[in-house]
Amino acid sequence: MGFFNKKKEIDKKINWNIKRKCLDLILESAKSSYPNEFGALLRVDEKEKHTIVELVLLPGTISGNSHAIFRMHMLPIDFSIVGTVHSHPSPYPIPSEADFALFNKQGKVHIIVANPYTLSSWKGYDNTGKEIEIQVI
Ligand code: ZN
Repeated sequence: MGFFNKKKEIDKKINWNIKRKCLDLILESAKSSYPNEFGALLRVDEKEKHTIVELVLLPGTISGNSHAIFRMHMLPIDFSIVGTVHSHPSPYPIPSEADFALFNKQGKVHIIVANPYTLSSWKGYDNTGKEIEIQVI
C-alpha cells in the first residue's frame, strides 16, 4: 500500500529541463530589453515533453514595464507551449501579484530572470507560484 502511494507521488512530480542554448537566448534577450521587460512563451521538445527547447515570441509583443505583454487572447493554441518566461529589471526573480495571476492562468512552468541576467539570476515556478527546480542540460 505504502509503495503504491509513494509511486503515485513520484509520477506526479515533473522534472523540468531547459536546454542551455535556450536559457542563453532568454538571458541575452532580457539583457538587451533592459530596462524594459522581456517576455516570451516556452516550448518543449516534441519527444522530450519536459525539456524546454525553444522560445516563442508573441505577435505584437512589446517590451514594457508591465505584464500586459502576455495578453491571453494572443496566445496560440499549441500544446507544445508549456509556460512563460519574463524578465524583471530588478535583481529579484520573485513573482509579483500579477505574476501569480499569470502563472495560474497559463501553463505549467514559468521562468523569471532578474538583473543582471546571468546563469545564477533566474528561477523556475509552477502554476501555483511555487519555486521549482529546472535543470539546465
Ligand atoms: Zn514579474
